[in-house]
Amino acid sequence: MPDIIALLPDSVANQIAAGEVIQRPASVVKELVENAIDAGATQISVIIKDAGRTLIQVIDNGKGMSETDARMSFERHATSKIKRAEDLFDIHTMGFRGEALASIAAVAEVVLRTKRQEDELGTEINIAASEVLGQTPVSCATGTNFMVKNLFYNIPVRRKFLKTDNYEFKLIVFELQKVALAFPHIQFELRNGNTEVLKLYTSPFRQRIIQLFGKNINQSLVDVNCETSIIKITGYITKPDVAKKSQPDQFFFVNNRYMRHPILHKAIIKAYEKILLPELQPSYFICFTIDPANIDVNIHPVKTEIKFFDEQAVWQILHATVKESLGKFSIVPSIDFEIDRSVEIPVLSRATDVNLPQIDIDATFDPFKPEQKKSVSVRADFSSHSRSLPNNWQDLYSGFENEPKTELRIPNFEPVENKGADDVQVSKQQQFLQVKNKYILTPSKSGLLLIDQRRAHLRILFEQYLENIEKSANAVQKEIFPQVVELSPADHELIMEYSAAINQAGFDIQDFGQNSVVVNGFPAALEQANPQKLVDDLLAELHHAPSQSGTSVKETIALALSKASAIPYGRALGSEEMSDLIDKLFACKNHNYCPEGKTILTIINIEELENKLK
Ligand code: ADP
Ligand code: MG
Repeated sequence: MPDIIALLPDSVANQIAAGEVIQRPASVVKELVENAIDAGATQISVIIKDAGRTLIQVIDNGKGMSETDARMSFERHATSKIKRAEDLFDIHTMGFRGEALASIAAVAEVVLRTKRQEDELGTEINIAASEVLGQTPVSCATGTNFMVKNLFYNIPVRRKFLKTDNYEFKLIVFELQKVALAFPHIQFELRNGNTEVLKLYTSPFRQRIIQLFGKNINQSLVDVNCETSIIKITGYITKPDVAKKSQPDQFFFVNNRYMRHPILHKAIIKAYEKILLPELQPSYFICFTIDPANIDVNIHPVKTEIKFFDEQAVWQILHATVKESLGKFSIVPSIDFEIDRSVEIPVLSRATDVNLPQIDIDATFDPFKPEQKKSVSVRADFSSHSRSLPNNWQDLYSGFENEPKTELRIPNFEPVENKGADDVQVSKQQQFLQVKNKYILTPSKSGLLLIDQRRAHLRILFEQYLENIEKSANAVQKEIFPQVVELSPADHELIMEYSAAINQAGFDIQDFGQNSVVVNGFPAALEQANPQKLVDDLLAELHHAPSQSGTSVKETIALALSKASAIPYGRALGSEEMSDLIDKLFACKNHNYCPEGKTILTIINIEELENKLK
């Protein structure tokens, strides 16, 4: 047998790498504009045709490239921005991976024209699908002009994957908003075909926000400002009256780099907790300045996530600062400041243990009721979790206690599979036996009751979830430290398609862009769940959804959630857990079959037992 391992040709390797960096026209815009910024440009023009499918052109007045550098710039891992591994911890430029140009050139036709101030003639390079077609001297302006034509022309699958022009163009605008906010001293221009979409002049940050989001935002911007030994925070938040239900403008920047940060996002949202309905979101434009040694910009291939080494301290500082700003402008009614009227900005060192602030909400508090007696406990939610399932199944039958028989009757029990017409009766001093960590065995009047533990739990959860979804009740939710889950584009779409129902069931899963979602909470019924695994399990179920004809979307979701969270086989159960499980099972509408149609329980009657021992 000959050896079979060979190195991939560069063009193929680049195409594979491009899949990471260049997903759509907006990614090209981002990379080219960032390069222009790194090159010291003060003016950047972006010209788009057909939402970037036909043309993406970025022209800058930066420092340009020499003839050799122009050629080198398309090599993979070719960068002028870092030289040694240590430099990774002190990054002051937008790019540093040296992958963008190689990736773009692998999936499009590219024309580069560039010239340095000191050179009389510039260089023009033509590349298509990683192949250099020509390089000639040209006369051109100082700076760099990239034309990227027919993106993905050589990868039809990728081209097909692009969404509508409208959507793709919106993403391009979003990329420009990010850099334009991060660099308000740079002039930007965006043209879509012959239409001028943006024209931004050098301006202070506040002015830049107004240029981008309209004059109306001006009077609702509230200053945020704080400097500690760890971090400096500046920027603006918006007053609650302009909060939005969808697509709020929310931007974080760290040392002029846009970042997504679900955990710090929560720090802001929490500061608005009592002054904003939960479905509304404020806009914010927050800039952090921090020693680059205290962050890691390296954790995500497209670099929109940044890790703070002192994350909890930053969280605390941000939360307190935003709260203080809201308070200072009398936006927060003073009653909300009872506890922390004077917000102290903590200055902590990395060694200090920081506990996230716990905020307790009294769910029963009704501001319109002048007096609420503390002793009366009013339940604010009517979700199925608080529905009157007895904690203890004996409670169901407390009225029977005085009857001579110490046996209990389970109502509505239809015997399965002709297993005798006797009512199933379970004695009060019930004994439960777990068999092979799979079945629960318990004596009943007519014999032995055998229950499949997982199927029983599936049924219980299924009915609970379904009820939550159908009632759109505010399902009891457990908040967790937000966790981002990265998905494939197809899975992301699937989750988003069902997100309304999933959230009604008690989840808080939100779109987080770039094929990821953020999990902020999950149903309280799930004791300890790993968000990543939950989402995976959900997806596994949703993949079958369309083929389950006759099954409603709600049922599919409820089933997916139940399967994701039902106790597995192999789990040892204590006798209280078994008792609780059986109580809840018999409180279900249907306790004979699990939602997948399999039998949950069976009775081995006395006759059968006797027969066995004949
Ligand atoms: P990175 O930005 O990570 O270094 P790129 O592939 O984006 O990698 O760019 C490679 C190199 O090409 C850069 O390091 C820079 O030296 C050069 N370059 C790219 N774009 C420009 C530009 N607009 N002006 C000047 N030099 C540029
Ligand atoms: Mg770059």
